[in-house]
Amino acid sequence: MDNSIKQCLYCDKKMQGRTDKKFCSNHCRSSYHNAVYGNRTNYMRRINALLLRNRKILSDLFVLQRKGTQVPLSELYIKGFAPQHFTHQAKHASKTVYTYCYEFGYSYVGKNAVKIIQEVNIESSLL
Ligand SMILES: [Zn+2]
Repeated sequence: MDNSIKQCLYCDKKMQGRTDKKFCSNHCRSSYHNAVYGNRTNYMRRINALLLRNRKILSDLFVLQRKGTQVPLSELYIKGFAPQHFTHQAKHASKTVYTYCYEFGYSYVGKNAVKIIQEVNIESSLL
């Protein structure tokens, strides 16, 4: 028979009482979760920071971009843009593919410039 003595998943201390208890203390619970998920969380945090930085750069340049003009790619890189990180891509009616960081997207105009756009409806930016 199960005498309902369990061990803490983190420190192996024996516990009595509620049989659904997995940890002897809040400290052990958070230490366990940090050990199991900590690296993954850090990885996601770093990616999210890069995506947010890209978004900020596109947003800033979008504001500066005059209607009908293009932004030199070098402007993005000077600010630390990381093109390998983006949220999604969408092909517009013009068959131009835009690469997005959240609601700000860009497409290449030639080799050295981009056109930046801001999407308002999320539905219209799904490929
Ligand atoms: Zn414990």
